[in-house]
Amino acid sequence: MSEALESYSEIGRVAIDPKGMSGPRKLYVKSFGCQMNVYDSHRMADTLAPEGFVETGAPEEADLVILNTCHIREKAAEKVYSELGRIRKLKEEAAREGRKVLVAVAGCVAQAEGQEILRRAPAVDLVVGPQNYHRLPGLLARATREPVVDTEFPVEDKFDFLKSPSREKTRARGVSAFVTVQEGCDKFCTFCVVPYTRGAEVSRPVTKIVAEVQRLADAGVREVTLIGQNVNAYHGEGPDGRPWTLGRLLHHVAEVEGIARLRYTTSHPRDMDESLIAAHRDLACLMPYLHLPLQSGSDRILAAMNRRHTRADYLRLIERMRAARADLALSSDFIVGFPCETEDDFRDTLDVVEEVGYAGAFSFKYSPRPGTPAANMEQVPEEVKGERLQRLQAAIDRHQVAFNAACQGKIFDVLFEKPGKYQGQLVGRSPYLQPVQAMAPPALIGEVVPVKVTEISANSLFGTLVAQTSSIHASANYDAMPASAVAGA
Ligand code: SAM
Ligand code: SF4
Repeated sequence: MSEALESYSEIGRVAIDPKGMSGPRKLYVKSFGCQMNVYDSHRMADTLAPEGFVETGAPEEADLVILNTCHIREKAAEKVYSELGRIRKLKEEAAREGRKVLVAVAGCVAQAEGQEILRRAPAVDLVVGPQNYHRLPGLLARATREPVVDTEFPVEDKFDFLKSPSREKTRARGVSAFVTVQEGCDKFCTFCVVPYTRGAEVSRPVTKIVAEVQRLADAGVREVTLIGQNVNAYHGEGPDGRPWTLGRLLHHVAEVEGIARLRYTTSHPRDMDESLIAAHRDLACLMPYLHLPLQSGSDRILAAMNRRHTRADYLRLIERMRAARADLALSSDFIVGFPCETEDDFRDTLDVVEEVGYAGAFSFKYSPRPGTPAANMEQVPEEVKGERLQRLQAAIDRHQVAFNAACQGKIFDVLFEKPGKYQGQLVGRSPYLQPVQAMAPPALIGEVVPVKVTEISANSLFGTLVAQTSSIHASANYDAMPASAVAGA
């Protein structure tokens, strides 16, 4: 029997506690890193649900702990080992009470370090790479007997075996969901581990993606973000048997009834093709917020990074995007202190930040990753990296504050996601992913509603529902809220 189909039933579907009481086995999954890991964590939990596992948010009561790890920067990878130290203590504590806890390490650290994890953290029972989550039931059964490492790239497609969540579970996860459409990367940027940990680019077929989006919509999901390590390199098989672009896929997904909003991330500037630009022009449900990482504003550094585009290419692309969608806002990723980066190179990055005026951006100090070409290049001293990062973040923050300030008085469609901090308040997202808080009834969770922005704080917008729902607004107790609450203090 293949491991994908093997069951975990060998260790039973129920947990017996020291007092002899039985109950379902409890699973604690902790995700590190990107949205791909959040999605994978859900799929792992879904695949283990038929094996009798229910999720818990409390690691101390778990029978199975899965750490879904990130290897993109050294700090992210090291966090896993400190977390494993804490988990080891919980495992020992449980053993004293006569309870066996299994510990699994999944994700990119698992893929990159494999056996080494067992050496550094003997409390770990299973190391499983991102392509093998469908084998979890069988792997866990084996891991009850001996430590197991599975970091192969299998021939079968894990998506054919991963289980889907129930309707209730899907709805409980919220009205906005991720759907993986593409995995892996063939670009080999010289700083990046992804091509090694996630493997070659693979795209899921259009019909399977649409079926997943349909299932989400049927359960009440209103917003879907299509995700991939290099999502706009998407080239999955269409219903006509030919490879489809991401632009074409977006058009198709937009037709799924119930889906009000679409997003996608993360894109590479080289893969923004005509069909994707046209999708931004033609699809009102495709949100006008694009994450388009530049990494550096210096052509010399972009070449050393193997990004295969120049700063001018990037700026021209943004012009075309803005011509297609005038209300488009942008975010980006930047790396400072890439090997050989000079002060002049760094200033080129600051220049682009000023020129583009990002609504937000992520910035990181370059972190040498074992096995990647840049790790062997001439390194920039840590203190120089630190100082540049501060300057870059200050520039990014300034633009973010200006972008948010310009939202004052505007009316945005807001997708309400959940209750807010104060009674009678809901929190949703603007088209630009800003959290928006407004007094509104719970019935509006899952609805896209126009909201006028009345206040702005560092991280949130505050607003009131506008005309079409004036009766709802009248019943909301906005005026009763303390001014400090309105200001998001
Ligand atoms: N595929 C996306 C692209 O081409 O821009 C990036 C995906 S990567 C998982 C997310 C971000 O992590 C990158 O955009 C980059 O800024 C950052 N990153 C990747 N490797 C890094 C490294 N070695 N040191 C610092 N930051 C890194
Ligand atoms: Fe990494 Fe993105 Fe470059 Fe691929 S395109 S190697 S995921 S940074």
